[in-house]
Amino acid sequence: MTLKYDVVVVGAGPAGSSAARYAALGGCNTLMIEKRQEIGSPVRCGEGIARHFLDDCGIPYENKWVAQEVKGAKIISPAGNVLKIDEKHAGNEVGIVLERDAFDKACAKLAAKAGSEIWVKTTAVGLLKDDGRVTGVRVKRLEEEFNIEADCVVAADGYESQVGRWAGMKTLMKAGDITGTLQYRLTNIEPDPDFPHYCEFFLGTCAPAGYIWVFPKDECTANVGLGISLDRLKNKMDLKMYLDAFCKKDPRMKRAQFLDMVTGGVSTCPPIKETVRDGIAMVGDAARHIDPITGGGIGNGCLAGMILGKVLSEIKERGGTYSKEDLQPYEKGWRAELEETLYRNWMAKNKLVTLSDEDFDKIIATLSTAGIEKLSVHAMLKVIKERHPDLVAKFADMI
Ligand SMILES: Cc1cc2nc3c(=O)[nH]c(=O)nc-3n(C[C@H](O)[C@H](O)[C@H](O)COP(=O)(O)OP(=O)(O)OC[C@H]3O[C@@H](n4cnc5c(N)ncnc54)[C@H](O)[C@@H]3O)c2cc1C
Repeated sequence: MTLKYDVVVVGAGPAGSSAARYAALGGCNTLMIEKRQEIGSPVRCGEGIARHFLDDCGIPYENKWVAQEVKGAKIISPAGNVLKIDEKHAGNEVGIVLERDAFDKACAKLAAKAGSEIWVKTTAVGLLKDDGRVTGVRVKRLEEEFNIEADCVVAADGYESQVGRWAGMKTLMKAGDITGTLQYRLTNIEPDPDFPHYCEFFLGTCAPAGYIWVFPKDECTANVGLGISLDRLKNKMDLKMYLDAFCKKDPRMKRAQFLDMVTGGVSTCPPIKETVRDGIAMVGDAARHIDPITGGGIGNGCLAGMILGKVLSEIKERGGTYSKEDLQPYEKGWRAELEETLYRNWMAKNKLVTLSDEDFDKIIATLSTAGIEKLSVHAMLKVIKERHPDLVAKFADMI
């Protein structure tokens, strides 16, 4: 028996489920495969998402995947200067702190409801090709290995993606464009007037070329994590040293206890050149859709997945071949939505990593008294330029 689908999606994260959902909704015979035994688990994420992504991607709000709704973001400089930003303007990760395992399952359920098949414990181990064109995937399901033919394979296999690379697409990154992360889920945290109502971001040498986040899950629990650029990490244990030092210093965490601990990588690179070839498209972390400043990728993955799924449906409807040419509306579509911001934030990240603790203190103090409403890089730079021209020399080409 030959298994054959219009679309096979590899990876049941938010990007894969979104692509599978919209492809199936448009009539594509769709299969989504996931190597893990349970979709969404274990969680390796700070779990923050901006609310607008739910509307943008047609994901109906459900209490079961909401851990905590927040009012906004608090950005804290090394000396303790604080900038508060309303959640509507605070970036991709601020608004809702998710129960990510339940959220990923809810996204997969929407894909199933739209008509997609879903297999778990099924790993893509290679691509089928014919004269350079991708024609399907080779999979391992439990102990059995077999081929599945597909008119289009979707590489939604996350940060460590191999599927795109098997097709010859260039997804490798420089060490300076990769952030190593460590996150503790801590409970028994003492409340303060703002906890658990804000997602907190701590800047400076507490996390070299990165930041520390405290994302509240309930009135005494939070995801407390840090990301450090790999080119600043001499040794992986440094992540633990920095995070432990932070927790020791924060009086709210004096009696905090562990619920879990996770590590992972995040891309902080510029947009990649190519995300489609004949018979294949990449999406989400696999396509480096993560925001290079915040490391947030859930919302962008859902959005790009939706754009891809709709393009796959249109190709099906007009009887196309899912060639590189046919897939161009996806390449153009995600770039129109995300590319400019991804590129600008990558440039800004490269400048931010050169700032000292004193620079961050001055910048946050300046912004906190300027009534800045929108955390757009450009808006921030303009305010800093007016008040501290000395600080913006490094950013001159971005203003
Ligand atoms: C510590 C940490 C904290 C983060 N915090 C945030 C945050 O607060 N907010 C935010 O927006 N983003 C955050 N991110 C990033 C976010 O987790 C990702 O951007 C998001 O998960 C991307 O979704 P995705 O669907 O592209 O990939 P993933 O969610 O990684 O899904 C990929 C799926 O593919 C499966 N897979 C991989 N290979 C194969 C294979 N060969 N065969 C079958 N299946 C396969 C994997 O098991 C996985 O389920 C964080 C990341 C880390 C590491």
